[in-house]
Amino acid sequence: MKKEQIEEQKIGQFAEILSDSEYVVFLGGAGVSTESGIPDFRSRNGLYHKKEKRFSKYKPEYLLSYECLKCEPEIFFDYYRKNLDARSIEPNAAHKVLAGMEQAGRLKGIITQNIDGLHQKAGSINVQEIHGTIWHNHCISCGKEFGSDYIFESSEAVPHCTECGRIVRPDVTLYGEFLPQEAYQNSISMIGKADCLIIGGTSLEVGSAAQLAHMYHGKYLVIINKGKTKLEGKANLVFHDSIGKIMRAIE
Ligand code: NAD
Repeated sequence: MKKEQIEEQKIGQFAEILSDSEYVVFLGGAGVSTESGIPDFRSRNGLYHKKEKRFSKYKPEYLLSYECLKCEPEIFFDYYRKNLDARSIEPNAAHKVLAGMEQAGRLKGIITQNIDGLHQKAGSINVQEIHGTIWHNHCISCGKEFGSDYIFESSEAVPHCTECGRIVRPDVTLYGEFLPQEAYQNSISMIGKADCLIIGGTSLEVGSAAQLAHMYHGKYLVIINKGKTKLEGKANLVFHDSIGKIMRAIE
């Protein structure tokens, strides 16, 4: 059978799985947003392979860690501003199809490791952001809340609270921090109810996402990821392909 025929057959199987499922959940990561122009971490063009002189002596995990925020806040905020500003980025086909599926009652919700807010921008409602978001910031001392511009537009190397003068940080889960409990508990509950889990655009290298994926024991597992992931042996269907392309095909 030709490559195109195999692909068509797999898309047909994916559509059948979706129509046979009552509680479909999507678990995704940075690969969902690469087609919007945001690099992921581990791919060839990902952030982990970007060479910037100023940050060359640091490991990427350190630059996005609580330790870096605490010990070298100037470095942390400089890296954060240069690499994680997604305010002007637009959702792509994958975000839009997922939002349409939820509106049509074909998807119960999304669990995302992404911090860019693109699922909500596309119109998704039930989005569990297990690594937080760049769209909200707060003061580490008094808790006063600030919008995303406050950090990205600040003229201070380290942004400070207008109320108490302490550091304002993003509501992003850094390496070395606990996950936002509400989002994580909601995710566990969704995984427990799901009879179809679509995993897309994630290497599953980050522990929290891998743990959620391992908690899933429902009927169908579909993986859409350009690179290989460890769970492939358990999946009913695996697409090593563009997530935008596959999601458009089952729209
Ligand atoms: P990762 O970089 O470890 O893995 C991304 C995976 O997506 C790779 O396996 C790659 O093959 C695949 N991929 C890339 N583009 C794709 C496409 N168009 N279609 C299908 N697959 C594609 O990312 P991760 O697993 O999400 O973990 C990294 C952490 O980085 C997460 O915690 C996430 O919060 C954070 N992160 C977020 C953003 C964002 O918010 N957009 C961007 C970079 C990193």
